Amino acid sequence: MNLLKETRKYRCPACGEKLGVNIQYGMPGIDMAEAAERGEVVLGGCCIDDDSPERQCIGCGHKWKIKRRKPVEMMPHRGILT
Ligand SMILES: [Zn+2]
Repeated sequence: MNLLKETRKYRCPACGEKLGVNIQYGMPGIDMAEAAERGEVVLGGCCIDDDSPERQCIGCGHKWKIKRRKPVEMMPHRGILT
């Protein structure tokens, strides 16, 4: 039972298990659908925005982001509305 390709998994910040996989956005091809069935990736649907998480734990279902938020100072012309 060792037919799985080497798949990168990431430690889940919620449960601590190394079960985090990348979330694939967009229309999945047949390869991607099969990989998702094997638990190698998670399909995130076709919509992605700045708040979409990049990884999901296949153990507990927790989703998280790996990108850091851009600091507000990067947008000097945009004031903070209060
Ligand atoms: Zn988890």
